[in-house]
Amino acid sequence: EIAQQVIEFSKKDLDSNFMITLPEKEIMKQAEELNKNFDDNNFLYGIPYMAKDNFATKGIRTTASTKILDNFVPTYDATLIEKLNKNKTLMSGKVALDELGLGGTGLHSAYGELVNPRDSKRLLGGSSSGSVYAVTKGYVPFATGTDTGDSIRKPASFNGIVGFKPTYGALSRYGIFPYAPSLDHAGFFTRNVDDMAIVFEKTVGFDPKDFTSIKINDEIFYAKINDLSATTTFAYIKEVQENLPEPLKTHYESFYNKLSAQGYQVSEINFRRDLLDVLAPVYMMISFPEAVSTISNLDGINFGLREPGDDFTEIMTKTRSKYLGDVVKRRFVIGSLNLKKENQELYMNKAKKVRRLIVEEISKIYKNFDVLIIPSAIGIAPLIEVATEFEDDSKQFLEDILTLANFSGMPSITIPFVEEQSMPIGINLNTAPGQDLKVLQAAKVCE
Ligand code: GLN
Repeated sequence: EIAQQVIEFSKKDLDSNFMITLPEKEIMKQAEELNKNFDDNNFLYGIPYMAKDNFATKGIRTTASTKILDNFVPTYDATLIEKLNKNKTLMSGKVALDELGLGGTGLHSAYGELVNPRDSKRLLGGSSSGSVYAVTKGYVPFATGTDTGDSIRKPASFNGIVGFKPTYGALSRYGIFPYAPSLDHAGFFTRNVDDMAIVFEKTVGFDPKDFTSIKINDEIFYAKINDLSATTTFAYIKEVQENLPEPLKTHYESFYNKLSAQGYQVSEINFRRDLLDVLAPVYMMISFPEAVSTISNLDGINFGLREPGDDFTEIMTKTRSKYLGDVVKRRFVIGSLNLKKENQELYMNKAKKVRRLIVEEISKIYKNFDVLIIPSAIGIAPLIEVATEFEDDSKQFLEDILTLANFSGMPSITIPFVEEQSMPIGINLNTAPGQDLKVLQAAKVCE
């Protein structure tokens, strides 16, 4: 019944472009298997979810929202899909993303634009656009996502749901199409922190198939979700706080006061402003070249669609010209330029050095504090026409602040915070890498 319902919801809403592949037969087959037994002790038993379409699913088309992979059917499951299968969940569809995960709006899936379900003049957010859409609309209680710069935590903010990107390596990335491997994280969307703790607990763990995989200390999350230590200390960045627009700034002040009133220590800290101001360029100078390198296999020869040509170069050029979208092309041009020998030293390696300074600055915070609070977004989902215009803004760093967690690998969660004009805005909590339990516990207290 649940399977039929999810299929029905999705079918009625195909015009929103959130669904790329709805594998009806496979869904019903899984449902039949699940109907044979029921395990009371497994919270995930029979729970439907949707997978961002950059997660490989065995026998089910996986496009990563790029036309070049329009006909690609993987022969294996991503480790996270496999783990969810083992936990008897119901994989209920492959949902849209900004092409290959490169983007943050929801406007750049090769299978059509997605817009905010609360207000179609506003951005939905991305790159995990289909995932955030499905959970926001209530079609499924959770969905998978990936986050290289902010692709889980920013759209969660625009839609009033929970988005979690755990410690780098805590969730396996095997079988997930890479964007920039030194920054790529897997994660989830849910409607509340309890659900997040459950899904994370069932999927976390070392995976020998992913060479960046690690084992974090904790294994139990849900049963401990209400146990945040009373001595937990919170910090927020002065340079961020004082640049926030009103009324958000006041909301944050009240929030800090509320936490203090609950007995937690809340402190204002400094962060090198020169480093905050270069978050976006450092992100671009590292992620674009990595993307060129990791996505070099989409060449018209190895996978997917192919345009005819007399030799490799012609096939590749024609295939990529025809099937890759504008954002991907633009980033590839910049990325390739950075990979030129002389530019590597000038830009890419320099960006890596600055990244190290950023990570050191973050580590200093965690010597004295447990939880770092930052704004998931500085406002409600932007209007599409405004967001697509180029803006030069000295407060730009506020828009890119979530990349801190990708540079450092620290666990980072967005939860709903306040509303303006009946549209949600989230708040983002972070802890030192490996402290995923603590960040979930803190989120539960702040929820
Ligand atoms: N918005 C960022 C970008 O455009 C983040 C993308 C991501 O996290 N996958 O690259």
